[in-house]
Amino acid sequence: MSRDSNCIFCKIIAGQIPSRKVYEDEEIYAFHDINPWAPIHFLVIPKVHILSLAHIEPEHQAMMGRLMQCIPQLAQQEGCNPYPEGGFRVVTNTGKEGGQEVHHLHFHVTGGPRPWLRG
Ligand code: AMP
Ligand code: ZN
Repeated sequence: MSRDSNCIFCKIIAGQIPSRKVYEDEEIYAFHDINPWAPIHFLVIPKVHILSLAHIEPEHQAMMGRLMQCIPQLAQQEGCNPYPEGGFRVVTNTGKEGGQEVHHLHFHVTGGPRPWLRG
């Protein structure tokens, strides 16, 4: 598995930095954001170190499909209200102008009753 020893999310996956785990399988890890913008806010990441959504390759297709498929069930598990009155928001910041701060691909999943701090 390709990891970057300087990457904070690779360290979280490796258990070197603590996190509040939401889900884990052989390819995917999900954990609560340390600085939530909404009543429910967790991050879903591939275990493989991919810099951003701009760095997706054909070999990542199956994993990315599974990652996307996980999101609705994790949102429900974490307490997001059902569609359509409830729902959730998925955000992927990409690059400097896209607002990306951590350069390991991640999907913010936010939900719960509004107002939210952001988004
Ligand atoms: P972005 O700006 O899209 O790169 O988002 C990075 C996100 O990672 C921010 O929402 C941070 O609050 C979150 N974050 C940074 N460090 C940690 C950490 N150790 N545990 C959980 N979330 C983190
Ligand atoms: Zn990483």
